[in-house]
Amino acid sequence: MNDKRRFTLIQERLLAWFAANRRPLPWRDDYNPYRTWIAEVMMQQTQMDRGVRYFLRWMERFPDVAAVAEAPEEDVLKAWEGLGYYRRARNIQAAARAVMERHGGVFPSRYADILTLPGVGPYTAGAIASTAFNEEVPCVDGNVERVLSRVFDIDTPVKEEPAKSRIRQLAQALIPKGRARDFNQALMELGALVCRKNPDCGECPLADICESRHLGITADRPVPGKKAAITPLEVVCGVLLHEGKVFIQRRGEKDVWAGLWEFPGGCVEPGESPEEAVVREWKEETGFDVAIVERLATIRHGYTTYRITLHCFLLRLKGAPLGSPLPAELTAATACQWIAPQDIEAFPLPAPHRKLADTCGLFDKPGPGE
Ligand code: SF4
Repeated sequence: MNDKRRFTLIQERLLAWFAANRRPLPWRDDYNPYRTWIAEVMMQQTQMDRGVRYFLRWMERFPDVAAVAEAPEEDVLKAWEGLGYYRRARNIQAAARAVMERHGGVFPSRYADILTLPGVGPYTAGAIASTAFNEEVPCVDGNVERVLSRVFDIDTPVKEEPAKSRIRQLAQALIPKGRARDFNQALMELGALVCRKNPDCGECPLADICESRHLGITADRPVPGKKAAITPLEVVCGVLLHEGKVFIQRRGEKDVWAGLWEFPGGCVEPGESPEEAVVREWKEETGFDVAIVERLATIRHGYTTYRITLHCFLLRLKGAPLGSPLPAELTAATACQWIAPQDIEAFPLPAPHRKLADTCGLFDKPGPGE
């Protein structure tokens, strides 16, 4: 079969399959660019069911670009809490502000213009331009890499050259005239529903033209790249309770988890115990002399290429007088507060600190009559 005939078959089969199998997702109601954008960024972070819940909650709080642009950053981070990669939430707000300032509040409609927005890369720009505006540009995500590397038997790592360029060229060349919106979504949807890690080739509309299926090597495609090394990290944090209030601080702008609130702490240094580390970190970051009351929990959390073990302690102020403690001398944070434990729910926290707040019992809301 020549390439032209093969391309035509792929286009026809995928469009027909998508028309019959597309999931009725909330952002597919109207293909509004703002909703498409938020959905694309969120779906890079999480599973579909969870992503839909986040999306609907986000749209209630920020129904349009202007609402995101005007919101306090903390509200944006709070709506993103639990999705991770908080820089993406901050970039969404920066891009929303750019749409307001540079484009008069109207979302740009051309791929090249969308790509200039802060934090928007080729995949997201391609997804918005093709889905919302039907522009004939590709959007290559993990699903598309998987489908195309199998259908065209691409035998080198998909995230590296030359496979990367070949996949992008194929994704571009395959788009049928005037059908970018449906075709790009069809390709991604096939990867999400049928051509998954363990492909369901019996249900696939491309089964008879898929090279890796024909060769019996679907398990070997896509070819993975080198795995990044995982770095274990021993980290501590302390919950300081003083006269019924808990101390929290807001992380600096350049930190991991920038702008989120936390219980102060940091890395355990070589030769140090977690108990020694939490006392030292508190002194360095807040100026407070603290003592350990008890160990609260040990929380394990994966973050990019790190595997964090977070040792959590309940602390008291050493030799503290009655009444308000002295003001903190912050060296690693931009703000701090003493809050009632049950108010922690209102603050955006990094995932391991949220796990601690949810599970250690100190932050539970008082029940009726308590
Ligand atoms: S035939 Fe199998 S491997 Fe090939 S595209 Fe379809 S599901 Fe994927």
